Amino acid sequence: MPYRSPANEFRFLMDHVVGFDQVAATDRYAEATPDTCDAIITEAAKLCDDIIAPLQRPGDMHPAKLENGVVRTSPGFGDGFKAIAEGGWIGISADPEYGGMGLPLTLATSVNDMMAGACLSLQLNPLMCQGQIEALEHHASDTIKDTYLPKLISGEWTGTMNLTEPQAGSDVGALRSKAEPKGDGSYAISGQKIYISWADNDFTENVCHLVLARLPDGVPGTKGISLFMVPKFIPNEDGTLGDRNSLRVVSLEHKMGLHGSPTAVMEYDNARGWLVGPEHGGMAAMFTMMNNARVGVATQGVGVAEAAYQHALAYAMDRKQGRAGGSGAIVEHADVRRMLASMKADTFAARAITMANAVAIDMSNATGDAGWKARAALLTPISKAFGTDIGVEVAATGIQAHGGMGFIEETGAAQYARDVRVATIYEGTNGIQAMDLVARKMMDGGDAAVALLDEIEAAAEAAKDTLPDLVEPVWQACESLRETTEWLVGQDMNDRFAGAVPYLRAFARVLGGHYHLTAALQGDETRKRLATFYIKRLLPEHAGLLAHVREGADDLMALSVDDLVA
Ligand SMILES: Cc1cc2nc3c(=O)[nH]c(=O)nc-3n(C[C@H](O)[C@H](O)[C@H](O)COP(=O)(O)OP(=O)(O)OC[C@H]3O[C@@H](n4cnc5c(N)ncnc54)[C@H](O)[C@@H]3O)c2cc1C
Repeated sequence: MPYRSPANEFRFLMDHVVGFDQVAATDRYAEATPDTCDAIITEAAKLCDDIIAPLQRPGDMHPAKLENGVVRTSPGFGDGFKAIAEGGWIGISADPEYGGMGLPLTLATSVNDMMAGACLSLQLNPLMCQGQIEALEHHASDTIKDTYLPKLISGEWTGTMNLTEPQAGSDVGALRSKAEPKGDGSYAISGQKIYISWADNDFTENVCHLVLARLPDGVPGTKGISLFMVPKFIPNEDGTLGDRNSLRVVSLEHKMGLHGSPTAVMEYDNARGWLVGPEHGGMAAMFTMMNNARVGVATQGVGVAEAAYQHALAYAMDRKQGRAGGSGAIVEHADVRRMLASMKADTFAARAITMANAVAIDMSNATGDAGWKARAALLTPISKAFGTDIGVEVAATGIQAHGGMGFIEETGAAQYARDVRVATIYEGTNGIQAMDLVARKMMDGGDAAVALLDEIEAAAEAAKDTLPDLVEPVWQACESLRETTEWLVGQDMNDRFAGAVPYLRAFARVLGGHYHLTAALQGDETRKRLATFYIKRLLPEHAGLLAHVREGADDLMALSVDDLVA
């Protein structure tokens, strides 16, 4: 069944659920009128349905290959990328001074969601470019901006991010790549990086690598790391391409999914690079890219959840088995209905959280307001982890809804589960996201979290006469989350970390309840029925999760390594 972009869903969320009107009311985003948003979403939907989605299976069946040092991409990917570039979709939120559209991240998030649902392997490429563009806009010198940004935004060149090394994964500070000043303003970069997404391709004339490395006087750990632009071909002053840089793709990984995206081991051997941001300020610069990328990866989870749901629904409406009643198809069985309703309700919740995160980032960028900045920072780990967890869970349920056919590759249901699996791992594992939420994001004593919970309770109060049956459980869940948040900020880090993952999930469950309730208040009966399903059947999970959080670390860590081995 062909993927169909859920264009109307984005408009509904923007107009009625996540408060996009606030973004459109700012001077910075005054161009994001309803007509512009409609045009963008409609055009992007067309591209995704007609051009990108047909690349999904070829990418899986014909993975990218390394031939004599050259990466050969999956059939059709070059044309697909060109279509994305020519539509201006890479630079949708980029600075107009360099050729971007300057539109809000909320719109870019809608477009990225559709593109991820259509073909995740290909979508990862423009997503990496967008992260690099944002990092350069904020941290690069004018020379680097002038040289690289127009080419990256137009899609003539692509961008990657190089953090990971064999001994430095989650612990980025353990990296060993070196940078030596050459005395002419450039640096010699040496080292090995692993798992580099879209490290090379055969359809753009240059690939620009942002590489983390340590200068000779860089202290150990993250504080001694600097960021460098290391292009495959070194641009001349007139913008034409000059010498080939001394970097190479050593090998491509054989992965469980995402086959169309070449994931490389990279070697830099005294490659020429240029500093981005200040010396030893690499992590701050890279964080700009990672925060953008985290919302982008959340969107990958949501987009794949949407596609997996559409697939399973079509199958369930067609497959006849047992005495189903009604149409006679398995969609009439209560348990199949449960699976499909969970998939749809969770996809809505994860999408709403991710778009609310994008709205907070847009508002922070447009107004500089500290409250919006704190809201954006709080929501980023939640949307990254919940969006990708839901991608994985919905894709797995999609296989189950297909029965045996879910296990057979031809249906395509398994590909969604294989492709999206990595999204909970890269851009900071979901465990690291949860630790970020309970540590760094609670350094304010929980103020940003409590401000959000206040808003949720106020919205519930305002709706109590309209939908009392739905309001009460949302209000109660929010109150439980508030109590656990107040308890959590009083604990030491061991106790916080022991409960970080269930805490993040409970937070997302409550946010999902709030957004479903907000949607139901629009009066549409379908929205009300979906909200009822979520609030009565999925939201109650928060209570078990919060009980888990409150257990702290003692009995968990008392379960010793010897006990695990026994
Ligand atoms: C397909 C793919 C594409 C990728 N693309 C890129 C890319 O483009 N650029 C790039 O730089 N990297 C990329 N990565 C690397 C990715 O970001 C890392 O795999 C990820 O950060 C985790 O690091 P690791 O694999 O070393 O796992 P580890 O850090 O070894 O983690 C293993 C487990 O231990 C947990 N853990 C680790 N440290 C802690 C801690 N302090 N507290 C609690 N738990 C902890 C983790 O959560 C995880 O569950 C990619 C990876 C894959 C698989």
